[in-house]
Amino acid sequence: MHIILVNPRGFCAGVNRAVQTLEEVVTRFFDKKIFVYHEIVHNTYVVNRFMALGVQFIFSLNAVPEYSVVMFSAHGVSPQIREEAVKKSLKVIDATCPLVSRVHQAVKSYVEKGYHVIYIGHAGHDEAVGTVGEAPQQITVISSEQEARNLTHQRTQNNLPYKDLRLACLMQTTLSITQTEQIVNILREQFPNIEISDKNTCYATRNRQEAVQILAKQADTALVIGSVNSSNSRRLCEIAEQQGIVSRLIDGADEINPQWFSGKETVLITAGASAPEHVVQSCLARLHAFFDVSFEEVVVREENVVFSLPSEIIQYCE
Ligand code: SF4
Repeated sequence: MHIILVNPRGFCAGVNRAVQTLEEVVTRFFDKKIFVYHEIVHNTYVVNRFMALGVQFIFSLNAVPEYSVVMFSAHGVSPQIREEAVKKSLKVIDATCPLVSRVHQAVKSYVEKGYHVIYIGHAGHDEAVGTVGEAPQQITVISSEQEARNLTHQRTQNNLPYKDLRLACLMQTTLSITQTEQIVNILREQFPNIEISDKNTCYATRNRQEAVQILAKQADTALVIGSVNSSNSRRLCEIAEQQGIVSRLIDGADEINPQWFSGKETVLITAGASAPEHVVQSCLARLHAFFDVSFEEVVVREENVVFSLPSEIIQYCE
């Protein structure tokens, strides 16, 4: 078996920042209960590791005692959650990825200028929920080409025809780049004056998808390491499939079934932006245990993006 290990893969700068922040918080507030609103990142290994350290992941602030330490995950939160946290005098440490915050800012800016925002994303995903919460009445969420086409004949929640509005388009950071471009093209055809924001781009999503798109052509099958609720990991799996190979999303090495590789010579391995490198290495070790393996790591694009940790960490410890 020949393994092509994709580079870039795994942790992006936003995930690195969130995980390092929580590590700092756990160390500095070792004598306090730490709450994290939503999974810190969508990865079973990362979440389980912090749970073992006593971190409590929550989906509502209701049960959190006043003055507690609460972290917001990399996916961001709505203004309503921020207000609730202020009312309870919570010590908030905000690990929202700066690229997600940039989309929130763009939504606010468009809405202030009187635009209605078409948001391409998955309704219900943590990131989409937080972003839409910035202006729920002035945002419409769509996730497919058909939904984009339907808008021509539809009206907003405020009963206004879309064609009569100043429209702007923003999107979730972890979508398929090519699928999103197709939806954007349909929006442009229907609403020639729609403004497409340039604040959506996430270098990590683009780079990981581009690398799989290029390298999957050289492989017979693909393993994508990441959790099922990780949007960007699922997109990587789909992109490999679009290149005509069977692609499997796995959380970790235990799930690997040697029969998957019967008749396969070349296996592509990558990892979603929230999957830790030690899980990738344990998957490689398991394949080594089963097969006679040759191995190459192919760098499609260099990455050097680093985000500094939230300043609140220092503030609350002084
Ligand atoms: S995938 Fe992009 S937007 Fe999401 S956390 Fe990583 S860097 Fe930030």
